[in-house]
Amino acid sequence: MKSHNQSTVLNMIRLSEPISRAEIAKLTNLTPPTVSSLVSELIEKNLITEEQSTNSKAGGRKPIMLRINYSAHYILGVYAAAEVVRVILTTMDGKIVSDYNNDITELPSKTEFINMIIDNIHYILNKTSIEKDLILGIGFAMHGLVDPDQGLAIFSPHLHLENIPIKVSLENEFNIPVIVENDVRALAIAESWFGQGQGDSDFICLSVGRGIGSGIFINNDIYKSTFNTAGEIGHTILDINGPKCQCGNNGCLEAYASESAILSKVKKELITNQDTLLHNWVRDGSDELSIKMVFKAAKQGDPFAKSILEDAGKSLGLAAANMINILKPSKLILEGSLFEEGDFVKSPLIEMIGKYTFKSSHEEILVVCSKLGKTGMVLGAVTLILRKMFKTTD
Ligand SMILES: [Zn+2]
Repeated sequence: MKSHNQSTVLNMIRLSEPISRAEIAKLTNLTPPTVSSLVSELIEKNLITEEQSTNSKAGGRKPIMLRINYSAHYILGVYAAAEVVRVILTTMDGKIVSDYNNDITELPSKTEFINMIIDNIHYILNKTSIEKDLILGIGFAMHGLVDPDQGLAIFSPHLHLENIPIKVSLENEFNIPVIVENDVRALAIAESWFGQGQGDSDFICLSVGRGIGSGIFINNDIYKSTFNTAGEIGHTILDINGPKCQCGNNGCLEAYASESAILSKVKKELITNQDTLLHNWVRDGSDELSIKMVFKAAKQGDPFAKSILEDAGKSLGLAAANMINILKPSKLILEGSLFEEGDFVKSPLIEMIGKYTFKSSHEEILVVCSKLGKTGMVLGAVTLILRKMFKTTD
Protein backbone atom coordinates (compact mmCIF):
# COMPACT_ATOMS: atom_id res chain seq x y z
CA MET A 1 0.00 0.00 0.00
CA LYS A 2 2.78 2.38 0.96
CA SER A 3 4.77 1.74 -2.17
CA HIS A 4 1.56 2.02 -4.19
CA ASN A 5 0.94 5.47 -2.68
CA GLN A 6 4.54 6.43 -3.34
CA SER A 7 4.13 5.52 -7.01
CA THR A 8 0.87 7.47 -7.10
CA VAL A 9 2.61 10.59 -5.79
CA LEU A 10 5.58 10.08 -8.10
CA ASN A 11 3.29 9.70 -11.10
CA MET A 12 1.27 12.77 -10.14
CA ILE A 13 4.49 14.81 -10.03
CA ARG A 14 5.53 13.39 -13.40
CA LEU A 15 2.21 14.32 -15.00
CA SER A 16 1.80 17.76 -13.42
CA GLU A 17 5.27 19.05 -12.53
CA PRO A 18 6.04 21.52 -11.11
CA ILE A 19 3.44 20.76 -8.45
CA SER A 20 3.10 21.57 -4.74
CA ARG A 21 2.41 19.11 -1.90
CA ALA A 22 -1.02 20.68 -1.38
CA GLU A 23 -1.98 20.16 -5.02
CA ILE A 24 -0.83 16.54 -4.90
CA ALA A 25 -3.02 15.93 -1.85
CA LYS A 26 -5.98 17.50 -3.61
CA LEU A 27 -5.51 15.54 -6.83
CA THR A 28 -4.74 12.14 -5.27
CA ASN A 29 -7.17 12.27 -2.33
CA LEU A 30 -4.31 11.39 0.03
CA THR A 31 -4.16 13.34 3.29
CA PRO A 32 -1.63 16.23 3.45
CA PRO A 33 0.46 14.49 6.18
CA THR A 34 0.61 11.30 4.07
CA VAL A 35 1.70 13.28 1.02
CA SER A 36 4.29 15.10 3.11
CA SER A 37 5.81 11.92 4.41
CA LEU A 38 5.81 10.23 0.97
CA VAL A 39 7.42 13.31 -0.56
CA SER A 40 10.14 13.29 2.12
CA GLU A 41 10.93 9.67 1.25
CA LEU A 42 11.09 10.48 -2.45
CA ILE A 43 13.44 13.40 -1.75
CA GLU A 44 15.54 11.08 0.44
CA LYS A 45 15.80 8.68 -2.52
CA ASN A 46 16.82 11.61 -4.72
CA LEU A 47 13.93 10.81 -7.10
CA ILE A 48 12.43 14.32 -6.83
CA THR A 49 13.70 17.83 -6.17
CA GLU A 50 12.21 20.93 -4.58
CA GLU A 51 12.22 24.41 -6.07
CA GLN A 52 10.82 27.77 -5.04
CA SER A 53 7.78 28.71 -7.07
CA THR A 54 8.04 31.95 -9.00
CA ASN A 55 4.30 32.52 -8.63
CA SER A 56 2.61 33.32 -5.37
CA LYS A 57 -1.03 33.68 -4.56
CA ALA A 58 -1.87 37.31 -3.77
CA GLY A 59 -0.12 38.13 -0.51
CA GLY A 60 0.56 34.47 0.24
CA ARG A 61 3.74 32.49 0.61
CA LYS A 62 5.38 31.15 -2.49
CA PRO A 63 4.78 27.40 -2.41
CA ILE A 64 7.61 24.90 -2.74
CA MET A 65 7.20 23.04 -6.02
CA LEU A 66 8.29 19.49 -6.76
CA ARG A 67 9.85 18.01 -9.86
CA ILE A 68 11.12 14.59 -10.92
CA ASN A 69 14.90 14.43 -10.72
CA TYR A 70 15.22 12.73 -14.10
CA SER A 71 18.99 12.72 -14.35
CA ALA A 72 19.74 11.32 -10.90
CA HIS A 73 19.06 7.67 -11.78
CA TYR A 74 19.59 5.39 -14.74
CA ILE A 75 17.89 2.53 -16.56
CA LEU A 76 19.41 -0.15 -18.76
CA GLY A 77 17.44 -1.19 -21.84
CA VAL A 78 18.24 -4.27 -23.90
CA TYR A 79 16.70 -5.15 -27.26
CA ALA A 80 17.49 -8.56 -28.70
CA ALA A 81 16.48 -8.67 -32.36
CA ALA A 82 17.11 -11.53 -34.76
CA GLU A 83 20.49 -10.27 -35.89
CA VAL A 84 21.57 -7.67 -33.38
CA VAL A 85 21.59 -6.97 -29.66
CA ARG A 86 21.41 -3.35 -28.55
CA VAL A 87 22.00 -2.09 -25.03
CA ILE A 88 21.35 1.49 -23.94
CA LEU A 89 21.76 3.31 -20.67
CA THR A 90 19.32 6.18 -20.19
CA THR A 91 18.24 8.67 -17.58
CA MET A 92 14.64 8.49 -16.32
CA ASP A 93 13.38 10.65 -19.17
CA GLY A 94 14.70 8.19 -21.76
CA LYS A 95 17.73 10.30 -22.75
CA ILE A 96 20.43 7.95 -24.00
CA VAL A 97 23.71 8.22 -22.08
CA SER A 98 25.41 5.24 -23.67
CA ASP A 99 24.53 3.01 -26.61
CA TYR A 100 26.10 -0.26 -27.72
CA ASN A 101 25.27 -2.60 -30.64
CA ASN A 102 26.46 -6.11 -31.09
CA ASP A 103 25.75 -8.15 -34.26
CA ILE A 104 24.70 -11.76 -33.89
CA THR A 105 26.73 -13.33 -36.68
CA GLU A 106 26.30 -17.00 -35.79
CA LEU A 107 23.43 -18.79 -34.11
CA PRO A 108 24.35 -18.78 -30.39
CA SER A 109 23.59 -21.44 -27.77
CA LYS A 110 21.46 -20.31 -24.84
CA THR A 111 24.55 -19.79 -22.68
CA GLU A 112 26.38 -17.92 -25.43
CA PHE A 113 23.37 -15.67 -25.93
CA ILE A 114 23.08 -14.85 -22.22
CA ASN A 115 26.85 -14.31 -21.92
CA MET A 116 26.83 -11.93 -24.86
CA ILE A 117 24.14 -9.80 -23.17
CA ILE A 118 26.01 -9.90 -19.85
CA ASP A 119 29.25 -8.83 -21.57
CA ASN A 120 27.45 -5.96 -23.34
CA ILE A 121 25.98 -4.67 -20.07
CA HIS A 122 29.37 -4.91 -18.35
CA TYR A 123 30.89 -3.02 -21.26
CA ILE A 124 28.40 -0.14 -20.85
CA LEU A 125 28.80 -0.11 -17.06
CA ASN A 126 32.59 0.03 -17.35
CA LYS A 127 32.52 2.64 -20.09
CA THR A 128 30.23 5.01 -18.20
CA SER A 129 31.57 4.20 -14.69
CA ILE A 130 28.07 4.67 -13.30
CA GLU A 131 27.49 3.17 -9.87
CA LYS A 132 25.25 0.14 -10.02
CA ASP A 133 23.16 1.49 -7.13
CA LEU A 134 21.97 4.30 -9.36
CA ILE A 135 20.46 1.87 -11.90
CA LEU A 136 16.76 1.35 -11.25
CA GLY A 137 16.36 -1.73 -13.41
CA ILE A 138 17.09 -3.60 -16.62
CA GLY A 139 14.29 -3.75 -19.18
CA PHE A 140 14.59 -6.43 -21.84
CA ALA A 141 12.70 -6.44 -25.16
CA MET A 142 12.96 -9.88 -26.74
CA HIS A 143 11.71 -11.01 -30.15
CA GLY A 144 9.53 -14.11 -30.33
CA LEU A 145 7.36 -15.62 -27.61
CA VAL A 146 8.05 -14.27 -24.14
CA ASP A 147 6.71 -15.06 -20.66
CA PRO A 148 7.04 -11.76 -18.73
CA ASP A 149 5.96 -13.35 -15.42
CA GLN A 150 8.91 -15.71 -15.40
CA GLY A 151 11.17 -13.44 -17.45
CA LEU A 152 11.64 -16.21 -19.96
CA ALA A 153 12.13 -16.14 -23.72
CA ILE A 154 9.90 -19.11 -24.51
CA PHE A 155 10.74 -19.37 -28.19
CA SER A 156 12.97 -17.46 -30.56
CA PRO A 157 12.21 -18.52 -34.14
CA HIS A 158 15.23 -16.62 -35.48
CA LEU A 159 17.81 -17.93 -33.00
CA HIS A 160 16.23 -21.41 -32.82
CA LEU A 161 16.32 -21.21 -29.01
CA GLU A 162 13.73 -22.12 -26.39
CA ASN A 163 13.22 -21.21 -22.71
CA ILE A 164 16.09 -18.76 -22.27
CA PRO A 165 16.11 -17.75 -18.55
CA ILE A 166 16.81 -14.05 -19.14
CA LYS A 167 15.50 -12.58 -15.88
CA VAL A 168 17.14 -15.10 -13.55
CA SER A 169 20.49 -14.97 -15.36
CA LEU A 170 20.73 -11.17 -15.43
CA GLU A 171 19.47 -10.71 -11.87
CA ASN A 172 22.04 -13.22 -10.63
CA GLU A 173 24.82 -11.44 -12.47
CA PHE A 174 23.95 -7.81 -11.72
CA ASN A 175 21.63 -7.89 -8.72
CA ILE A 176 19.39 -5.33 -10.44
CA PRO A 177 15.64 -6.01 -11.05
CA VAL A 178 14.90 -7.23 -14.59
CA ILE A 179 11.65 -7.06 -16.57
CA VAL A 180 11.36 -9.04 -19.81
CA GLU A 181 8.72 -8.40 -22.48
CA ASN A 182 8.08 -9.22 -26.12
CA ASP A 183 9.71 -6.62 -28.41
CA VAL A 184 6.56 -5.37 -30.14
CA ARG A 185 4.68 -5.10 -26.87
CA ALA A 186 7.66 -3.16 -25.47
CA LEU A 187 7.48 -0.92 -28.53
CA ALA A 188 3.78 -0.22 -27.92
CA ILE A 189 4.61 0.64 -24.31
CA ALA A 190 7.32 3.05 -25.56
CA GLU A 191 4.76 4.63 -27.90
CA SER A 192 2.38 5.14 -24.98
CA TRP A 193 5.09 6.79 -22.85
CA PHE A 194 7.27 8.69 -25.30
CA GLY A 195 5.70 8.38 -28.75
CA GLN A 196 2.57 8.54 -30.86
CA GLY A 197 0.39 6.78 -28.28
CA GLN A 198 0.81 9.41 -25.55
CA GLY A 199 -2.60 10.28 -24.14
CA ASP A 200 -4.38 7.48 -26.05
CA SER A 201 -6.09 4.81 -23.98
CA ASP A 202 -6.57 2.45 -26.94
CA PHE A 203 -4.23 1.92 -29.87
CA ILE A 204 -2.54 -0.79 -31.88
CA CYS A 205 1.10 -0.71 -32.85
CA LEU A 206 1.82 -2.62 -36.06
CA SER A 207 5.45 -3.52 -36.51
CA VAL A 208 6.74 -4.80 -39.83
CA GLY A 209 10.29 -6.03 -40.33
CA ARG A 210 11.69 -9.48 -40.80
CA GLY A 211 8.48 -10.61 -39.10
CA ILE A 212 5.16 -8.89 -38.44
CA GLY A 213 3.68 -8.35 -34.99
CA SER A 214 1.41 -6.03 -33.10
CA GLY A 215 1.20 -4.54 -29.64
CA ILE A 216 -2.36 -4.06 -28.43
CA PHE A 217 -2.89 -1.24 -25.95
CA ILE A 218 -6.32 -1.36 -24.33
CA ASN A 219 -7.67 0.67 -21.39
CA ASN A 220 -4.26 2.28 -20.82
CA ASP A 221 -2.46 -1.03 -20.59
CA ILE A 222 -0.81 -3.54 -22.84
CA TYR A 223 -2.94 -6.61 -23.61
CA LYS A 224 -1.04 -9.89 -23.21
CA SER A 225 -3.68 -12.62 -22.73
CA THR A 226 -3.27 -15.49 -20.28
CA PHE A 227 -0.76 -17.07 -22.63
CA ASN A 228 1.30 -13.89 -23.15
CA THR A 229 1.08 -14.36 -26.89
CA ALA A 230 -1.57 -11.85 -27.94
CA GLY A 231 -1.01 -9.69 -31.00
CA GLU A 232 0.28 -12.19 -33.56
CA ILE A 233 -1.27 -10.36 -36.50
CA GLY A 234 1.51 -11.70 -38.72
CA HIS A 235 -0.11 -15.12 -38.59
CA THR A 236 -3.65 -14.08 -39.38
CA ILE A 237 -4.63 -15.77 -42.63
CA LEU A 238 -5.36 -13.78 -45.79
CA ASP A 239 -5.76 -16.81 -48.07
CA ILE A 240 -5.61 -20.47 -47.07
CA ASN A 241 -4.20 -21.27 -50.50
CA GLY A 242 -1.57 -18.57 -50.20
CA PRO A 243 2.21 -18.83 -49.89
CA LYS A 244 3.80 -20.93 -47.15
CA CYS A 245 4.60 -19.12 -43.89
CA GLN A 246 7.46 -19.86 -41.49
CA CYS A 247 4.89 -21.06 -38.95
CA GLY A 248 3.85 -23.92 -41.19
CA ASN A 249 0.49 -22.52 -42.32
CA ASN A 250 -0.32 -21.06 -45.69
CA GLY A 251 -1.34 -17.52 -46.52
CA CYS A 252 -0.36 -15.74 -43.30
CA LEU A 253 0.07 -11.95 -43.51
CA GLU A 254 3.78 -12.46 -42.79
CA ALA A 255 4.12 -14.57 -45.95
CA TYR A 256 2.87 -11.57 -47.98
CA ALA A 257 4.17 -8.42 -46.38
CA SER A 258 7.20 -9.00 -44.16
CA GLU A 259 10.47 -7.66 -45.56
CA SER A 260 11.66 -11.18 -46.30
CA ALA A 261 8.37 -12.06 -48.03
CA ILE A 262 8.61 -8.94 -50.19
CA LEU A 263 12.18 -9.73 -51.19
CA SER A 264 11.44 -13.34 -52.08
CA LYS A 265 8.46 -12.20 -54.16
CA VAL A 266 10.67 -9.71 -56.04
CA LYS A 267 13.31 -12.36 -56.66
CA LYS A 268 10.73 -14.79 -58.00
CA GLU A 269 9.04 -12.25 -60.26
CA LEU A 270 12.29 -10.82 -61.63
CA ILE A 271 12.70 -14.03 -63.63
CA THR A 272 9.72 -13.16 -65.81
CA ASN A 273 9.68 -9.40 -65.31
CA GLN A 274 12.81 -8.02 -66.87
CA ASP A 275 11.84 -4.45 -67.74
CA THR A 276 12.30 -3.13 -64.23
CA LEU A 277 15.18 -1.11 -62.82
CA LEU A 278 15.62 -3.80 -60.19
CA HIS A 279 16.43 -6.36 -62.88
CA ASN A 280 19.29 -4.22 -64.18
CA TRP A 281 20.63 -3.41 -60.71
CA VAL A 282 20.62 -7.03 -59.63
CA ARG A 283 22.06 -8.20 -62.96
CA ASP A 284 24.94 -5.72 -62.55
CA GLY A 285 25.70 -7.64 -59.38
CA SER A 286 26.85 -4.41 -57.71
CA ASP A 287 24.36 -4.89 -54.90
CA GLU A 288 22.38 -7.69 -53.39
CA LEU A 289 18.63 -7.14 -53.58
CA SER A 290 17.36 -5.18 -50.57
CA ILE A 291 14.22 -3.41 -49.39
CA LYS A 292 16.11 -0.13 -49.75
CA MET A 293 16.68 -0.95 -53.40
CA VAL A 294 12.97 -1.66 -53.99
CA PHE A 295 12.14 1.75 -52.49
CA LYS A 296 14.83 3.42 -54.59
CA ALA A 297 13.29 1.95 -57.76
CA ALA A 298 9.77 2.93 -56.64
CA LYS A 299 10.94 6.51 -56.04
CA GLN A 300 12.26 6.58 -59.59
CA GLY A 301 8.79 5.61 -60.81
CA ASP A 302 9.49 1.94 -61.52
CA PRO A 303 6.00 0.38 -61.96
CA PHE A 304 7.10 -3.11 -60.86
CA ALA A 305 8.67 -1.89 -57.59
CA LYS A 306 5.66 0.33 -56.93
CA SER A 307 3.20 -2.51 -57.43
CA ILE A 308 5.20 -4.85 -55.16
CA LEU A 309 5.07 -2.26 -52.34
CA GLU A 310 1.42 -1.52 -53.05
CA ASP A 311 0.53 -5.22 -52.73
CA ALA A 312 2.33 -5.40 -49.39
CA GLY A 313 0.42 -2.31 -48.23
CA LYS A 314 -2.90 -3.85 -49.29
CA SER A 315 -2.18 -7.08 -47.41
CA LEU A 316 -1.19 -5.14 -44.29
CA GLY A 317 -4.29 -2.94 -44.63
CA LEU A 318 -6.61 -5.93 -44.96
CA ALA A 319 -5.20 -7.61 -41.86
CA ALA A 320 -5.27 -4.29 -39.98
CA ALA A 321 -8.91 -3.70 -40.99
CA ASN A 322 -9.87 -7.12 -39.58
CA MET A 323 -8.11 -6.32 -36.33
CA ILE A 324 -9.64 -2.85 -36.17
CA ASN A 325 -13.13 -4.30 -36.65
CA ILE A 326 -12.67 -6.44 -33.55
CA LEU A 327 -10.82 -4.03 -31.24
CA LYS A 328 -11.76 -0.56 -32.56
CA PRO A 329 -8.66 1.27 -31.36
CA SER A 330 -8.63 5.04 -31.86
CA LYS A 331 -5.20 4.88 -33.45
CA LEU A 332 -2.97 2.58 -35.48
CA ILE A 333 0.76 3.24 -35.18
CA LEU A 334 2.93 1.88 -37.99
CA GLU A 335 6.54 0.93 -37.30
CA GLY A 336 9.23 -0.39 -39.61
CA SER A 337 11.42 0.64 -42.51
CA LEU A 338 8.52 0.02 -44.96
CA PHE A 339 6.89 3.17 -43.60
CA GLU A 340 9.95 5.36 -43.47
CA GLU A 341 10.42 6.09 -47.16
CA GLY A 342 7.43 7.64 -48.83
CA ASP A 343 3.82 6.46 -48.80
CA PHE A 344 4.23 3.50 -51.17
CA VAL A 345 3.08 1.04 -48.48
CA LYS A 346 1.20 3.39 -46.16
CA SER A 347 -1.26 4.78 -48.74
CA PRO A 348 -2.70 1.43 -49.94
CA LEU A 349 -2.78 0.30 -46.30
CA ILE A 350 -4.91 3.29 -45.31
CA GLU A 351 -7.10 2.79 -48.36
CA MET A 352 -7.85 -0.81 -47.36
CA ILE A 353 -8.63 0.22 -43.80
CA GLY A 354 -11.04 2.85 -45.12
CA LYS A 355 -12.72 0.30 -47.37
CA TYR A 356 -12.97 -2.68 -45.03
CA THR A 357 -13.49 -1.17 -41.60
CA PHE A 358 -17.06 -1.42 -40.43
CA LYS A 359 -17.78 1.83 -38.65
CA SER A 360 -20.21 4.63 -38.08
CA SER A 361 -19.54 8.05 -39.51
CA HIS A 362 -18.32 9.55 -36.23
CA GLU A 363 -15.55 7.01 -35.77
CA GLU A 364 -12.18 8.14 -36.96
CA ILE A 365 -9.24 5.79 -36.67
CA LEU A 366 -5.99 7.68 -37.07
CA VAL A 367 -3.14 5.93 -38.89
CA VAL A 368 0.26 7.38 -38.03
CA CYS A 369 3.90 6.37 -38.36
CA SER A 370 6.10 5.85 -35.33
CA LYS A 371 8.62 8.60 -34.76
CA LEU A 372 10.80 6.58 -32.43
CA GLY A 373 12.58 4.95 -35.38
CA LYS A 374 15.17 2.29 -34.69
CA THR A 375 15.23 3.26 -31.01
CA GLY A 376 11.58 2.27 -30.40
CA MET A 377 12.09 -1.30 -29.21
CA VAL A 378 15.07 -0.60 -26.95
CA LEU A 379 13.36 2.49 -25.54
CA GLY A 380 10.39 0.19 -24.91
CA ALA A 381 12.70 -1.96 -22.80
CA VAL A 382 13.58 1.13 -20.74
CA THR A 383 9.89 2.04 -20.44
CA LEU A 384 9.14 -1.35 -18.84
CA ILE A 385 11.10 -0.16 -15.80
CA LEU A 386 9.60 3.34 -15.88
CA ARG A 387 6.06 1.99 -15.96
CA LYS A 388 6.77 -0.19 -12.96
CA MET A 389 8.21 2.75 -11.01
CA PHE A 390 5.36 5.09 -11.78
CA LYS A 391 2.70 2.41 -11.71
CA THR A 392 -0.62 3.60 -10.34
CA THR A 393 -2.80 0.56 -10.97
CA ASP A 394 -2.95 -2.94 -9.32
ZN1 LIG B 1 2.28 -17.85 -40.17
